[in-house]
Amino acid sequence: MQDHRKLGRDLELFHSDPLVGAGLPLWLPAGAAARRAVEDYIHALERRNGYQHVYSPPLAKQEMYVRSGHLPHFADDMFPPMALSEHDAFVLRPSLCPHHAAVFNARGRSYRELPLRIGEIGGQYRAERSGVLGGLSRVRAISLNDGHIFCTEEQVHAEVVESLRLMRVAHEALGFQPSSFRLSLRGDGGKYVDDPAMWDKASSVLRDALADAGVSYVEAAGEAAFYGPKVDVQLLDHAGRESTLATVQVDYFQPARFDLSYVDADGARRRPVMVHRSAAGSLERLFAHLIEVHDGAFPAWYAPLQVAVLPVSDACAGGEFLRACRAADLRVEEWHAGSLGARIRQAAARKVPFVAVVGEREAADGAVSLRPRDPGALSGVLPIGSAIAALSEVCSAP
Ligand SMILES: [Zn+2]
Repeated sequence: MQDHRKLGRDLELFHSDPLVGAGLPLWLPAGAAARRAVEDYIHALERRNGYQHVYSPPLAKQEMYVRSGHLPHFADDMFPPMALSEHDAFVLRPSLCPHHAAVFNARGRSYRELPLRIGEIGGQYRAERSGVLGGLSRVRAISLNDGHIFCTEEQVHAEVVESLRLMRVAHEALGFQPSSFRLSLRGDGGKYVDDPAMWDKASSVLRDALADAGVSYVEAAGEAAFYGPKVDVQLLDHAGRESTLATVQVDYFQPARFDLSYVDADGARRRPVMVHRSAAGSLERLFAHLIEVHDGAFPAWYAPLQVAVLPVSDACAGGEFLRACRAADLRVEEWHAGSLGARIRQAAARKVPFVAVVGEREAADGAVSLRPRDPGALSGVLPIGSAIAALSEVCSAP
């Protein structure tokens, strides 16, 4: 595997500007196009699996993070609070959890609504030391594919199993496999919430769910979230370094801190359990990995540019085909500059999945000649209508 930072530069996927700051990458148009396609896929996958999406702001009052336990347990990883006045300070959020707890609390909840699955791809911030930052794999502004499931005690097991399944669906669609799964448990030291019974219960829920999901894993003490144990999906990068992409966590702590409750069938108020989960992790770390595992040649459905149209001469300009591609929502460009051979090499260098050559014969016949990047993919001379139908099929998200 090649370093994603080099490929990211060569393919103009993202850029780091010292004036913007370390760990604050800019997604250039090509990287942004790929990311948008992946975000759309994640949203659709989650909708198909019962998630409702929300938007929430990337900061909140300091008080919220005192309540959530982040400031007492996690302050070292957070940016310092911003004081607006003596009584009013705000915090760039270290996680989306408290906002989603507030979404649950927006009105009274009935057991009939549970499990309530809330999803968002949202920003969170970590005050990482500048020495550890690099490309997209470790950043200060994180765009997290996050989700929180509010459910009953009886539903937790099935929700964790289902979250593990959904992860695997997403990873397969994106074209990679995690290097391992890790059950991250509490360690020594004061950073963890001190409630041994709660930790035991949450850990045994995760162990049972991992067994039921048929996932083999290793256990690691000292890698849990401060409020609970978690299943971590681990990746290896080009240099063999391990990092965590996505997680599933069982949390009995924050529901109590935010006094979450629902009305049960018998009319009693009960506390929901909160399952924190991410299928694809942060978009930054996900793309660092996707760039490396695919060597920059993304599957066609999230390739930044899906079709490069190359007219052999100006007389053959593929206007009709170009318009039809755009109408079909394919990401397409028409290139005129340079010899045909040079443009074909340029498409290969940019790892474009399909080149459509329009020569005099194709132009006269209303056809295009497709050349695929990947051996065995769609190819040959096709009438424009058939080419569009076939390209739409092979370029659509799973
Ligand atoms: Zn969370």
